Amino acid sequence: MHEMAMTEKLIDVVENFADSEGCQRIRVVRIEIGKLSGVEPAMMHFCFDAVARGTVAENAVLEISEVEGNAWCFDCRRQVPLAARFEPCPRCGGVNLQPMDGTRMRVKEMEVE
Ligand SMILES: [Zn+2]
Repeated sequence: MHEMAMTEKLIDVVENFADSEGCQRIRVVRIEIGKLSGVEPAMMHFCFDAVARGTVAENAVLEISEVEGNAWCFDCRRQVPLAARFEPCPRCGGVNLQPMDGTRMRVKEMEVE
């Protein structure tokens, strides 16, 4: 499962951060997820609760903001907005697309106790 692997990476980042800051408990984790990353926010919440159990992030609130996707269309030869992965180009309907923005997950900030 894609989200589970992402969540495990996220918890690694959170634990390293908690270690370096010397804090015992993380209250809020804010992340950005690109709409082309293939990650379902609902699934991410579900995995986060499971993976965070027993870590500094147990019971932490996961706040997800979604980032719009952009792709390069090889047919239009320009950058086009893209709502989701594997969608056709909104201009020409072509499928020769290279995702550019909105493909990654990024940690924005964390609130600690
Ligand atoms: Zn196009």
